[in-house]
Amino acid sequence: MLPFNKPYFTGNETKYIEDAVSSGKISGNGDYTKKCQAFFEQHYGFKKCLLTTSCTDALEMAAILIDIQPGDEVIMPSYTFVSTANAFVLRGAKIVFADSRKDHPNMDENAIEGLITTKTKAIVPVHYAGVACEMDTIMEIAKKHNIYVIEDAAQAIDSYYIGKDNIRRPLGSIGHMAAFSFHETKNIISGEGGLLAINDEEFINRAEIIWEKGTNRSSFFRGEVDKYGWVDIGSSFLPSEIIAAFLWAQLENLKQIQTVRKNHWEGYFDKLSDWAGANQIELPKVPEYATNNGHMFYLVCNSLEQRTKLLGYLKQNRILAVFHYISLHTSPFYAPKHEGGELPETDRFTDTLVRLPLFYELNPDEVIEALLKF
Ligand SMILES: *Cc1c(COP(=O)(O)O)cnc(C)c1O
Repeated sequence: MLPFNKPYFTGNETKYIEDAVSSGKISGNGDYTKKCQAFFEQHYGFKKCLLTTSCTDALEMAAILIDIQPGDEVIMPSYTFVSTANAFVLRGAKIVFADSRKDHPNMDENAIEGLITTKTKAIVPVHYAGVACEMDTIMEIAKKHNIYVIEDAAQAIDSYYIGKDNIRRPLGSIGHMAAFSFHETKNIISGEGGLLAINDEEFINRAEIIWEKGTNRSSFFRGEVDKYGWVDIGSSFLPSEIIAAFLWAQLENLKQIQTVRKNHWEGYFDKLSDWAGANQIELPKVPEYATNNGHMFYLVCNSLEQRTKLLGYLKQNRILAVFHYISLHTSPFYAPKHEGGELPETDRFTDTLVRLPLFYELNPDEVIEALLKF
């Protein structure tokens, strides 16, 4: 069976892990952690970066940092992974779902303002498939209503937004904070892993404290205080040096990984265009304000029936393709709590979207050949 995903190892992962082990320090916030964090700060201009054990954890940190209280409202797409919502639900927030765009699973920026109330505390745009949400509009709305923007950039490493001012900004550098994932299904991996990128300096000091179990241990190690103790709430959000060492091997090869993945993506796009048109299947859209980072190649079928047929056909041809997300407003956990209206575009993507295999060592022609006979 051709797998849907296969983690790619650059070759240096175990070497750097051995190095971390032989250095005698394998808990968090050591040399490899600092190297990775500095890489992201220099490469993408995020003001402060903290590695986390997952994107889920980075989102949870963001929810604590903006001081989400029970009853606060947070606007996000329903077409997303559970962690986007869970991080805020854990702090008692009510989730208010915005519908997807017609041409893209990303949240419809024009659906946001009508959802804002006096209780709205944050907007959480999810850059689905690594393709930017329309951030100029989202940031304008946030500024006007004095609310925070937390980017769920789990899939969005090395992707950009081109605003009205024509400046290319890395995704994750636009909102007050952003969360990235290094889960093995993402472009750059460490098994489990994540990153909190902080762009608003107001949050930096407290972020370090929450990251280190609510203690001022980071200040202590910098010699700013002579003993450290419990100063705030917090948790153990930082990964061990073993994870950071693995991640460093990936970051050293970021350019090459991105080039190969984008080639696969373009191969799919070019060779499937005519076929898709003939079958009334949509290929992924990258709006003119966004870039493609080769994270995901998906098809949007014309009906649930067509998708079921297509998935069955691929399985017969020993190719594993998958669908997702079951939108959160219809989930067993949140459907009873969902008070908003219907989300027809979200429902459509839930019923019709198919993700094709996309990983470094893939030969996309294997999948393309099978599809052309569908
Ligand atoms: C993968 C993903 C997450 C969760 O990332 P983890 O690192 O596994 O916690 C959150 N949001 C989105 C949109 C994702 O794709």
